[in-house]
Order: sequence, then C-alpha cells, then structure tokens
Amino acid sequence: MYLKKRSSELDHLASRDHLTDCYNRRVLFEVLERDFSQLKKMNEYSILMVDIDHFKSINDTYGHCTGDSILRGVAGILNDFARQNDTTARFGGEEFCIILPETSQLQAMSIAETMRTKIEKSTFDNIFVTCSFGVTSIKFNAKTPFELIEQADLALYEAKSLGRNKVSIWDQSLEESRLI
Ligand code: GH3
Ligand code: MG
Ligand code: MG
Repeated sequence: MYLKKRSSELDHLASRDHLTDCYNRRVLFEVLERDFSQLKKMNEYSILMVDIDHFKSINDTYGHCTGDSILRGVAGILNDFARQNDTTARFGGEEFCIILPETSQLQAMSIAETMRTKIEKSTFDNIFVTCSFGVTSIKFNAKTPFELIEQADLALYEAKSLGRNKVSIWDQSLEESRLI
C-alpha cells in the first residue's frame, strides 16, 4: 500500500511542472503525438497557447517570488476553466499550452475568451495581469504536433501585436506575413 502510494506520487512528480502543477512539456508532447497518430478518428481538435503579458516588468517591479505566485495563480485559472479531458501544460517560462480535444476553433476561441476575461478581472497578490491567447485547430491541416504549436504560436504573436490581452486565431495570412 505504501509502495503504491509512493509510486503514484512519483508519477505525479514526473509528469507535472513543479511550480504550477500543470503538466510538463514531456506529457504535452506525448499527448499530442498520441492524438496525432489517431487524428482520423477525431472530428475536432484545438489548442491554445497562452502567454502572460509584460511578465518581465512584473518580475522587475514586484520581484521573482511574487512573479512565481502570479504564475501559480494564472495556472490555477487555466486549470479551473479547462474541462476533464483537456490537458493544461506549462510550455516554458510564462507560457502555457492547452489541448482541447473534440473542440472546434469557435469553441476554443470562446473558452480562451472566458479564461482571458477571468484573468483580466482577477488579482494575484493584489496585482492585475493580462494574458494573450493564440488559437488553432486541426481543421487548418497541421501535419505534426510541431506544426500545430507553430500555428498557435503565430496566432499568439498576432494577439501580442494587436496590443495584448487578446485572443487571436491562426489564419493563412499570418504565415504569409511571417515570410515578408
Ligand atoms: P510579452 O508581453 O511580450 O510576453 O512580454 P514579457 O515581458 O511577458 O516577455 P519576456 O519573454 O520578455 O519575459 C518573460 C519573463 O518571464 C522573463 C522571465 O524572467 C520570466 N519568467 C520565466 N519563467 C519564470 C518563472 O518561473 N518565475 C518567474 N518569476 N519569472 C519567470
Ligand atoms: Mg509574456
Ligand atoms: Mg513568453
């Protein structure tokens, strides 16, 4: 019994990011690879890339510990709004990736908008922060998990250039503007 408990604790530690308790990158890519191998069975499938706005200046102003606490708070909201079968992962630094199975791009945008609004209205250690969101879906024909993430990242970049605290969806024109 003790060993069983210990083993599930070790599984938890190996699959989670220590600071936020979101899934780590390894699990994120395992889930994406698994899902891509059975993509034909799936009707809809979307992902979100989420990045905290101006986080460097938040750290510079309030210190790294407060920064960590804000990261945990934002992750908490993302997890609260994610559904049972969604996967919320810390992609790196102050960036998260959320897998939304059986979710169309419109539904994904609506989920992102709900998260964005909740974060905007919340305070973390009495500090307001905002996040930008990039959305994409397999309907846009990404062939690999990497391509899907690239699309969401490009949409996120668009949300940042539109002024931050926004949700943007991938579009072919974003690829074209990247080449210029
Ligand atoms: P933007 O709105 O364009 O996203 O600007 P930004 O300042 O959020 O982006 P930038 O990439 O310049 O800075 C990200 C910052 O996130 C810098 C880094 O110190 C901070 N950061 C990354 N990981 C952690 C962490 O685990 N804890 C804390 N406190 N800060 C972190
Ligand atoms: Mg940022
Ligand atoms: Mg970032």
